[in-house]
Amino acid sequence: MKNKIWLSSPHIGGKEQKYVKEAFDTNWVAPLGPNVNGFEKDILDFLGNERYVAALNSGTAAIHLALILAKIERGDEVICQSFTFSASANPIFYQGAIPVFVDSEEKTWNMCPLLLEEAIIDRIKKGKKPKAIIIVHLYGMPAKMNEILSISRKYGIALIEDAAEALGATYKGQKCGTFGDFGILSFNGNKIITTSGGGALVCKKIEDKQKAIFLATQARDNAVHYQHSEIGYNYRMSNIVAGIGRGQMEVLEDRVNARRANFKFYKNEFSNVSQIQFLEEPDGFYSNRWLTCILTPSYEIRENIRLALEKENIESRPLWKPMHQQPVFNKYPTYMSGTSDNLFEKGLCLPSGSNLSKEDLFRIVTTIKIIIGDKI
Ligand SMILES: *Cc1c(COP(=O)(O)O)cnc(C)c1O
Repeated sequence: MKNKIWLSSPHIGGKEQKYVKEAFDTNWVAPLGPNVNGFEKDILDFLGNERYVAALNSGTAAIHLALILAKIERGDEVICQSFTFSASANPIFYQGAIPVFVDSEEKTWNMCPLLLEEAIIDRIKKGKKPKAIIIVHLYGMPAKMNEILSISRKYGIALIEDAAEALGATYKGQKCGTFGDFGILSFNGNKIITTSGGGALVCKKIEDKQKAIFLATQARDNAVHYQHSEIGYNYRMSNIVAGIGRGQMEVLEDRVNARRANFKFYKNEFSNVSQIQFLEEPDGFYSNRWLTCILTPSYEIRENIRLALEKENIESRPLWKPMHQQPVFNKYPTYMSGTSDNLFEKGLCLPSGSNLSKEDLFRIVTTIKIIIGDKI
């Protein structure tokens, strides 16, 4: 059997163990310490905006805290991009709130601003104004932020920006994660950089960061004994994990460049293959190309490619199954155009790790070219 090619595997830089060792040597083996502070500062320096960052133990925890800080309560409605990973939507339920799923547009595959406004107007007409909007920069492609921000301001609805897949991407020169009232990042094992597992909440106000850390560390009141007047969570990042993050931040730019080079390679190789289409960057959009995705003419062709790759021990994956199609979410209000249904049916994510070798890339492309020549 040939060696396995993964969709997106961790890619260690080199300094991670130095920071982790420092944590052991100084006995900062706890969910606080110099690596946590250092990692938060590294993220801030990278985002380059007037923001406040709280390191947490997952991106999902960051979305949950963002909803709490946006004062989402039981029965409230929260608009959520349907074309995403379930972690964007799950925290809505942790708050006992109700999701309203909005479809994507074809230029970025992210939330369609026209459908978003239509949804808001219709929910208000039905008697309930949504209290937050969760948009996603899926696969590292920024959403149409100008339009979405102006809608969020026009109706006075909090914007939560799920940038879990988009660290390093920019829109009109501004880093993804810094547009919303809250931005969220993820450092899970498959993301563009990883801490093995972790996340961060990006806030506009220092009070929000302070409140996030308070809630993430069990909501302890200021007293010598343990006293609590609010429900807390155990969501803070550990100082060990943050050490990995500090090492990874040093190579983030390289990782973005490597993923973008993968995209360019695939695109060149398939430039004369009409059955394989790519998502292009509109003017002013800069994707980190976390995953390179292709769009084929049909489900059958998509599956032929996927199965041929699987036979060669190469991992690929259909695009995210939209939330409105998920058994657990399919009874909630939706505002749909068919875009995400179509993408789910015909789209495939190709191996996209920053650690793929040239040989890996040629093996993948050759496998696809053979199956396309034979079967299509
Ligand atoms: C990975 C991911 C998350 C969740 O991040 P975790 O750190 O795994 O909790 C949320 N949203 C999207 C779009 C993601 O891809």
